[in-house]
Amino acid sequence: MKSGFIAITGASSGIGKATASLFVNKGFNVLLLARRQHLLEEFSGDHVMKVEVDVTDEKALKEAIGKAEERFGAVDLIVNNAGRMLLGDITSQNSAEWKEMYDVNVLGVLNGMQAVLPSMKERQRGTIINIGSIAGRKTFPDHAAYVGTKFAVHAMTENVREEAAGDNIRVTIIAPGVVETELLDHTSDDGIKQGYKDWKASINGGLEPDVVAETVYFAYQQPSSVTIREIDLAPTKQQ
Ligand code: NDP
Repeated sequence: MKSGFIAITGASSGIGKATASLFVNKGFNVLLLARRQHLLEEFSGDHVMKVEVDVTDEKALKEAIGKAEERFGAVDLIVNNAGRMLLGDITSQNSAEWKEMYDVNVLGVLNGMQAVLPSMKERQRGTIINIGSIAGRKTFPDHAAYVGTKFAVHAMTENVREEAAGDNIRVTIIAPGVVETELLDHTSDDGIKQGYKDWKASINGGLEPDVVAETVYFAYQQPSSVTIREIDLAPTKQQ
């Protein structure tokens, strides 16, 4: 069994679950983090640890990393993937939805980075992969608050990459276009939801989550002297 472990936030669904499957099947020790633990039932074995964590709870996230370090050794990779997309018309959207997205997508990623950086600095080794978005590079209708969170993730990732490079820590952002997951389901405005579905159909659907998981793995398995700074990937027909 490999020493050290891979932590994945939002491992219960979509991109996070596909990434969890890939690393579990390759025999890595994994720490799978999500609130809905019943969706992690298919993952089991000595090399799998599952902890119910809300990424907005910085203490719980740090404790989970600490417990996994006791069991597996040092954290070698964290994939900060947990996220929420609540699309809305900026003139009428409930600000509670903005807050939820900023808490999970921005503070959650900061919490994830802070939870691993001290250990990685001490070892002078480690990788952080944040899941950004094409919506962290360009804008879309009814996405104002969401793109704000994702532009922030891109900026934070670049800032931390520069700060951590001297400690031999790799920091990467992977920015997918539309992916076939449950992400859209949490949007409360049915008209916006339908418009998004129609747009997605017009570009022949989204990427499969496995494609993003393979991209995460591609970036991770480079020699430790190589940092893939950013990968943008999207369905061919997406603008
Ligand atoms: P899903 O909705 O399928 O998965 C989201 C995951 O995030 C779930 O596992 C959920 O777990 C977790 N999550 C949400 N809130 C919290 C929280 N407060 N604490 C812990 N975990 C949380 O969406 P995707 O797989 O599509 O999204 C994954 C990432 O990819 C997100 O950051 C998203 O922005 C990004 N992305 C997605 C795209 C797409 O088109 N699907 C495109 C570009 C980027 P649980 O509810 O069990 O806690």
